[in-house]
Amino acid sequence: MLPLTPEGRTPVRALTIAGTDSGGGAGIQADSRTMALLGVHACVAVAAVTVQNSLGVSAFHEIPPQTVADQVRVVVGDIGVGAAKTGMLASTAIIEAVAGVCREVGIGRDGSIPLVVDPVAASMHGDPLLHASALDALRHTLIPLATVVTPNLDEVRLLTGIEVTGDRTARNAAEALHDLGPKWAVVKGGHLRSSDFSTDLLFDGDQFHELSAPRIETGDDHGGGDTLAAATACALAHGYEVPEAIAFAKEWTTRCLKAAYPLGAGHGPVSPLWRLSGM
Ligand code: PLP
Repeated sequence: MLPLTPEGRTPVRALTIAGTDSGGGAGIQADSRTMALLGVHACVAVAAVTVQNSLGVSAFHEIPPQTVADQVRVVVGDIGVGAAKTGMLASTAIIEAVAGVCREVGIGRDGSIPLVVDPVAASMHGDPLLHASALDALRHTLIPLATVVTPNLDEVRLLTGIEVTGDRTARNAAEALHDLGPKWAVVKGGHLRSSDFSTDLLFDGDQFHELSAPRIETGDDHGGGDTLAAATACALAHGYEVPEAIAFAKEWTTRCLKAAYPLGAGHGPVSPLWRLSGM
């Protein structure tokens, strides 16, 4: 577990650049909750506002790209962050603005601030969170900046055209993702229902690493991907290397999946609130 901040001291900071979820389950709300419960101060650059509940996303509103970039610039310039993550970015213009400001302030694989790119494309209900025309900007503008990119299997298919059905296709997909330019590619196997384990595959262009955790069967897994990416950013902000950061985040997300709760008439969220018990 990451160290909680001693009282009265300034905690490690991390920045999420993502969309809000009015239902409080995913997006910026999930990121901020995970960061807080890991003792990390969450800074937020809002990229889009979703109209959303447990049943799905009925609409979203994009924030002007310049305003998204300005939020990143003022936070990094004043508060300083140990890592950043991106989630829902909605459009080509926002992706390009985020990539531009990341390069400017030193966020990303060639800068001093590690960047987790969670290439969010759709909700678990299949509602779009990214314009289809923006996939190319994700592929060629943002993912090349990533310290680590963390797509789920649907996003892997959209980005690489590869349908992951087992070990061999997962390796092919990790190689194809790595060819886009991130330092590390992660193919998350959580949605591959054919095993009792959820196995993620990490690839740095040289070696594959496999990380397995017992599969937790729950319909309440809204925000799971955001939680994994946010916890990874927290661990990177604490100075972990990528494989250790992903391993930590996977363990964290598994515990949050076990603590998921029902909410509304649809899918409830994964929950980091278990960390409050016994406090
Ligand atoms: N809403 C927002 C703002 C998100 O960022 C995400 C995921 O990243 C979702 C919804 C979808 O979460 P899920 O796929 O867990 O439903």
